[in-house]
Amino acid sequence: MTVNKARKIRDALIVAGFAIVLLANVYEPLFLVGTAVVASCLIPHFLYNKCPHCGKQLGRNEGKYCQHCGKQIDD
Ligand SMILES: [Zn+2]
Repeated sequence: MTVNKARKIRDALIVAGFAIVLLANVYEPLFLVGTAVVASCLIPHFLYNKCPHCGKQLGRNEGKYCQHCGKQIDD
């Protein structure tokens, strides 16, 4: 799992989750499903959004370089 892949999965989960939440206007129980999908984006975020060089959490850093060691992230 690369950082870029984890970011894409996380973004896809957020978009899908919000889409499901919007559908809750039609079918209310979908609200919980959508919330669960949005919350699940935290899993790839915390497990894989790490620098491949120093292993530290990148947090909100969406850039190409690690803010801890300054090395390039995408691989
Ligand atoms: Zn680093």
